[in-house]
Amino acid sequence: MIDLNTLPERLLLGPGPSNAHPRVLDALSRPLLGHLDPLFIELLDEVKQGLRNVFGTTNAFTLPISATGSAGMEACMVNLLEPGDNILVGVNGVFGGRMCEVASRAGAKVHRVDAAFGEPLDIDAMVTAIRATRPQLTAFVHAETSTGVLQRVPEIAAAAHEVGSLVVLDCVTSVAGVAVELDEWGIDAAYSGTQKCLSCPPSLSPVSFSDRALERVRERATPVQSWYLDVSLLAGYYEGAKRAYHHTAPISSIYGLSEGLQLVEEEGLAAREARHRKAAAALIDGVAEFGFTPLVAAEHRLPMLTSLQLPETILSSGEAELRGALLNKHNIEVGAGLGSLAGKIWRVGLMGENARMTSVDRLVGALREELS
Ligand code: PLP
Repeated sequence: MIDLNTLPERLLLGPGPSNAHPRVLDALSRPLLGHLDPLFIELLDEVKQGLRNVFGTTNAFTLPISATGSAGMEACMVNLLEPGDNILVGVNGVFGGRMCEVASRAGAKVHRVDAAFGEPLDIDAMVTAIRATRPQLTAFVHAETSTGVLQRVPEIAAAAHEVGSLVVLDCVTSVAGVAVELDEWGIDAAYSGTQKCLSCPPSLSPVSFSDRALERVRERATPVQSWYLDVSLLAGYYEGAKRAYHHTAPISSIYGLSEGLQLVEEEGLAAREARHRKAAAALIDGVAEFGFTPLVAAEHRLPMLTSLQLPETILSSGEAELRGALLNKHNIEVGAGLGSLAGKIWRVGLMGENARMTSVDRLVGALREELS
């Protein structure tokens, strides 16, 4: 059996999870309260307010779903789609593809606009497809972790609203690393995860639904197929003066998220984004000497996740072996390519607490040792 006391301290520079902040780890070990204890409800309300801040919204229905980011995605789809509805999904990476799969399982007719992995969605192509398909829902990813692309949002959201479509945005990787402005952009439902730029362990999926989205849920002809993720049922526990049991909230994870949000508040969102951008620029400079080049054009690059094309020397000597050496000899995890980019790129995450020069220096030092 693995002795947990002997686990190594890895520096997690992959696509997530990133290392949790020590203050978050401390918070996780605070004494448990009951999930209906007034003190815990007060903390939950503070967490909801902290989430509104990082989502850039005043949406009342903003809360942490008790499961990882994919559950937030699923919550958006199963509440906002009824069997036979049309959804238009922009797909420029693995997570756009996952949205299609989840929507299709919810009984929707899925239309997709594809872009090459490494490119953003073409805004004109999205607008044209929205006008042609007039979907009930339009969905796409803000920060594609599988490729390292940041997507521009407002024009697509505006075109969707013109045809009465609601808009869902995947903010799993973007929240607390780059500006997210749900209200300004006109987003109706969004979801995130705690294990990336919020510097918490994986376990929760913050979600936010606009009043318009909740109205759509109220007007449904069919019940939401998922009991666990039904927002009307969740509201009974997370909202209002009198809270009723729905499921047992993951108390410790919410302590962790509370501390993670407090850290964001102390630093400020603008300073946090600047720190992410500075670290990403230093990474690209630092690994250039080994022949790594960024996959994504500068104007579309994510600050918290850099996809690096591998030089011929590393491709021929085995990129997996080099990643293995980084992990086993240097305790540094970097991410492999996914889907069509498998074996061709690395994904290096400098997320949340890890977006610091010390992370870059450690990675560059380890690469120098392995490659010289
Ligand atoms: N969407 C994006 C953009 C992601 O990066 C991820 C996870 O990496 C997910 C969705 C799914 O989140 P999770 O793995 O927490 O379920």
